[in-house]
Amino acid sequence: MTRGEIYATDAEKLAVAAAEARAGADEGGIPIGAALFASDGTLLGSGHNRRVQDGDAAMHAETNAFHNAGRQRSYRDTVMVTTLSPCWYCSGLVRQFGIGRVVVGDDRSFLGGQDWLAENGVEVTVVNDPVLIAMMGEFIHEHPALWNEDIGED
Ligand SMILES: [Zn+2]
Repeated sequence: MTRGEIYATDAEKLAVAAAEARAGADEGGIPIGAALFASDGTLLGSGHNRRVQDGDAAMHAETNAFHNAGRQRSYRDTVMVTTLSPCWYCSGLVRQFGIGRVVVGDDRSFLGGQDWLAENGVEVTVVNDPVLIAMMGEFIHEHPALWNEDIGED
């Protein structure tokens, strides 16, 4: 994945997020990836959940992609692509900065604020990619305590 390169289709965009998720897993982290694109498909930034790697509960996949995208003048025409349904925190980021569209790779393993986003004018596309669902399911099964920590369940 290369910043500045164009990823035209949703499948190509989701592949960038999936590569980030796998990179996170390879680092021993939680396998959730995300990427922010301009309206023409230019990759602005990508990232993955860094709770384990950085000891940072604030670095979810979406916030890490947002961080790596640097400053943008407007987010209205940008697309946030994430391997897993955005949690309330990341859904709040989408609303706060007016990101216009969200593509969700998997909302079976976890359902965050995507319906709330859609109700508030964000275009939400759910892919439910079987490979991503299987990857997340396996992680949750193998690391239940880490997963519950990430989603804020006691
Ligand atoms: Zn989140």
